[in-house]
Amino acid sequence: MLHRELETVSKKDLEKLQFERLKKSLAAATKAPYYQKLFKEHNIHVDSIRTLEHIKDLPFVTKNDLRLSYPDGMVAVPKSDIVRMHASSGTTGKSTVIFYTMNDINAWADLLARCMAATGATREDVFQNMMGYGLFTGGLGLHYGAERLGCLVIPSASGNTLRQIQLMQDFRTTIIHITPSYALHLAEEIAAQGINPRDLSVKKAYLGAEPYSEATRNKIEAQWGMHAYNSYGLSELNGPGVAFECVHRCGMHLWEDYYYMEIINPDTGEVLPDGEEGELVLTHLNREAMPMLRYRTRDLTRIIPGQCACGRTHRRIDRIKGRTDDMLIVGGVNVFPSQIETVLMNIPEVGNNYQIVLDREGGLDRIHVKVELYSKMFSGDIKNIDNLKKMIVERLRALIVVNPRVELLEPGSLPPSTGKAVRVIDNRKL
Ligand code: AMP
Ligand code: ZN
Repeated sequence: MLHRELETVSKKDLEKLQFERLKKSLAAATKAPYYQKLFKEHNIHVDSIRTLEHIKDLPFVTKNDLRLSYPDGMVAVPKSDIVRMHASSGTTGKSTVIFYTMNDINAWADLLARCMAATGATREDVFQNMMGYGLFTGGLGLHYGAERLGCLVIPSASGNTLRQIQLMQDFRTTIIHITPSYALHLAEEIAAQGINPRDLSVKKAYLGAEPYSEATRNKIEAQWGMHAYNSYGLSELNGPGVAFECVHRCGMHLWEDYYYMEIINPDTGEVLPDGEEGELVLTHLNREAMPMLRYRTRDLTRIIPGQCACGRTHRRIDRIKGRTDDMLIVGGVNVFPSQIETVLMNIPEVGNNYQIVLDREGGLDRIHVKVELYSKMFSGDIKNIDNLKKMIVERLRALIVVNPRVELLEPGSLPPSTGKAVRVIDNRKL
């Protein structure tokens, strides 16, 4: 089927296609050690999944399962068939690693070309990709999609603000792919150069990789004089391209020929009807190297009832409202407070109390870590304290990439925790 047919497919034909693809994904899963063990433990025979509804008989997969099966416990193809790997951002050590065959890369590129086309992008566009390249899926994911569509791609990657501005001016960039926080920051930097961002040729921005509000979108659109499209994805399900807004910008079409979606009650696991808010659970229907069945994204959203005016039949999901775990996204990097805690608690001089404060200044995320030390540290040489601080900054930076501000405090400086400790104070107005 052509993209056009696939995007406007009837519910009946879609369900037929989904079921065919689910059967294929299940068969692939039986080749991966992780699923072999899972199916055995739960006494699951893939042949007993005879309708789409039966997917409910499968247990959920979590990020922790990916970590436990690191590095290749979920791989379902011979190593020689794998052509690429990516990893979830930010985490060190046993992070979540994703593998792709050539068919997977091609299917992913097709899907992203579809996303871009849905926003009205064409081969005439100049696409400046300001997302991180490398292990992060944001950069290379959209890069391949934009090439597939035929755009001129500028792989400028994130950061290096002055060069970004120069490239936008010299090559008359029409579309940017950027995190919302960097879009805000970049607009300020452009203005500081005496340039009005509205005078550049940028017409569209794809904003994703981190949570943001409708108010932030409106602000970015006004600053830049362009349309901003919400883009959602996660590395476990390939990366960007899971759901994307079309020209109507009223929720993201989740591409149901690639992904089977469920919204569940995060506490009970029960599947909720369209319209109700809950946790998004996704099954990849079109991947060879690494089947992903009922993955708990931890992202909170809802299915927007009704049809989109564009005619695409794939249901839309609402802006991500939050997470059901404590994962923070700082400057586009995923950070779990527990990882910061592990760093701190491995340093003998660190006492028992710490606090993480997040702020946003000039569009950039700042992370401030307040750490209580044992009192004997304060009777010693001030130089020791300086060195200790440097060491903590280095170790945290290795973990969270973003430059942290570290403040060392005497014991008792932070509010003592009575009950559930408030470790994170997020002052960012997303
Ligand atoms: P990663 O696997 O590193 O690409 O991170 C994926 C996570 O980033 C998702 O599970 C979401 O929590 C978050 N995310 C990605 N895109 C968006 C978006 N458009 N809005 C809100 N959160 C997003
Ligand atoms: Zn639409």
